[in-house]
Amino acid sequence: MFYRLKTDFRLSIITLLATSGLLGITPFAVMRFLQGNILAGVVDLIIMLFITACMVYAWASGDTARSGFFMAVVACAGAVTAGAVVGEAGLFWLYPCLVTSFFLTEPRYAIFINMAAVVALMVHGVAFSSTVQMWSFAATAVVVSCCALAFAHRNEDQRERLAHLATIDPLTGVKNRRSMDEELSVATASAARTGISYGLVLLDIDHFKKVNDAHGHSVGDEVLKDLVALIGQNIRKSDQLFRFGGEEFVLLMSGVDQAGLRAVMHNLQQIMHKFLKHPGGKVTASFGVALLKNGEAPEDWLVRADEALYKAKSSGRDQIVYAEEVDSGETAAEPA
Ligand code: GH3
Ligand code: MG
Ligand code: MG
Repeated sequence: MFYRLKTDFRLSIITLLATSGLLGITPFAVMRFLQGNILAGVVDLIIMLFITACMVYAWASGDTARSGFFMAVVACAGAVTAGAVVGEAGLFWLYPCLVTSFFLTEPRYAIFINMAAVVALMVHGVAFSSTVQMWSFAATAVVVSCCALAFAHRNEDQRERLAHLATIDPLTGVKNRRSMDEELSVATASAARTGISYGLVLLDIDHFKKVNDAHGHSVGDEVLKDLVALIGQNIRKSDQLFRFGGEEFVLLMSGVDQAGLRAVMHNLQQIMHKFLKHPGGKVTASFGVALLKNGEAPEDWLVRADEALYKAKSSGRDQIVYAEEVDSGETAAEPA
């Protein structure tokens, strides 16, 4: 539960608004029933019910886009109704709703919801004791909405930048190991659900340390970038490349069988032989390849690819080794 609150910003705003709304409205609802103001009490109860429904839906479905939109509508509509039923005192409820709507739903919807709420109260007019008060309310509501829009925009921008920094390898621009862990879990879940086959390739550049030692770290960096560009040009859009760490990469392919995987790997190796170079000559790599087994966990899948890679290294490098062959004890190395 805390993990979801920490990682899903919109869900946390929905929960915060719903909880504080329920805590804030409950005493008023009780007071109104005790004072015999049944209409206002029923309005409070209905608002609380809708707020609770939005929050429960968000937690149960995970669809925070829809529940956030409805929560913004419910909150603003509730505040407008409170203003219309109890008058001036109800107006104050609209301010927190105007602010949070930008965090609950997309800016264009939030602008529309906020404007509609302010205009509805002004057209109804009963909540205001004078024209000056009404226009002051409208002006302050617009200022509050503009500030909230600016804050929400900045917050979203920074959240996206952080997400980018957390998932992309800065040198090569491909996704990092953290993203890979997530995508491998997605792939295994998708395979179990749909039966789509997935192939995993663990690639390790051969004697990369020597490239660095002989030509410098910056040349090594260029080789890594060249390798990523070369692979990127020769895989399908649906295939995903990750930097596993250092000079090791993982290629995740969907919808491939054993024969397809062999063809792709052979082609990739030929292309690398032809185009991947450093100032002193060719750059080669070793590959460990594993097709996902039925019901296999991501960690076990990766371990099989790693064992195949180990075999490729120990068989002389510049080899492609398939995990199935390692499992069955066959001589697995596919010569360059
Ligand atoms: P092997 O064939 O057994 O894989 O040998 P290797 O030299 O490729 O492997 P080893 O693990 O001994 O060395 C990996 C090297 O990769 C050492 C490290 O400095 C280098 N390396 C790791 N990350 C980077 C990087 O971002 N840029 C550069 N230029 N080098 C890197
Ligand atoms: Mg290595
Ligand atoms: Mg290496």
